[in-house]
Amino acid sequence: GVTITGLHKAYGDNEVLKGIDMSVRPGEVVCLIGASGSGKSTLLRCVNRLEDPNAGTITVGSFEATDPDVDLDAMRRHIGMVFQQFNLFPHLSVLENCTITPRRVLKQPKEDAEAEAMTQLRRVGLEELAQRRPDQLSGGQQQRVAIARALTMRPALMLFDEPTSALDPETVGDVLAIMRQLAEAGMTMIVVTHEMAFAREVADRVVFMDQGRVVEEGPAAEVIGDPQQPRTQDFLRRVL
Ligand code: ATP
Ligand code: MG
Repeated sequence: GVTITGLHKAYGDNEVLKGIDMSVRPGEVVCLIGASGSGKSTLLRCVNRLEDPNAGTITVGSFEATDPDVDLDAMRRHIGMVFQQFNLFPHLSVLENCTITPRRVLKQPKEDAEAEAMTQLRRVGLEELAQRRPDQLSGGQQQRVAIARALTMRPALMLFDEPTSALDPETVGDVLAIMRQLAEAGMTMIVVTHEMAFAREVADRVVFMDQGRVVEEGPAAEVIGDPQQPRTQDFLRRVL
């Protein structure tokens, strides 16, 4: 699981995270919602230390992410991250995109890495496209490759930052279906999303952020279906 306590992050004078407390139990799916600029991406980036927080602590499983002496490479091996932009290597095949990190970082033999990659590509329904290059795939297919690629590292935690925001509407559903399947398989997930139907159906808990603070959190049906805070109500009125 993940435990975040008193997390502060500023860029210069701009205080972006103003004391975030949040936890995610193993196997739990938490959807993070909130207006643009509320600090959702910054929070996710602090979890795998792509950003250094100014104060507070974050633990991810047995790793103290905010410990200056933490083994970041070891920690990040346990955390899969999927972004709005898929960041696949354009000159590599789908299969090679999925084997490069296990081969380089985990020193897996080629055959083992390929077997694992095919397992994960099958899971996202793309085993038949393993030899293609990313530019021969739709955006939704590329995002499914990005998910498969992350899964080849067998992460304990998956972070998603608006994984469907850059996709054509007709491919969004396939990506959300894969994420739902992953959630049902027991993956621990933090998902930043504007897909309220997904959040409502898949999230165990929804956290609403506004201006660097957690304003409201609880079961999806409560936060989205019956929000108590005026700022949550305003936000949902605008996005629903
Ligand atoms: P969105 O929904 O648009 O993705 P967000 O909730 O993810 O928004 P963040 O990207 O975390 O918001 O940004 C929060 C604030 O931090 C914004 O005011 C943004 O301008 C600022 N910010 C983010 N990254 C940086 C950076 N690298 N340097 C300076 N300011 C930054
Ligand atoms: Mg963001």
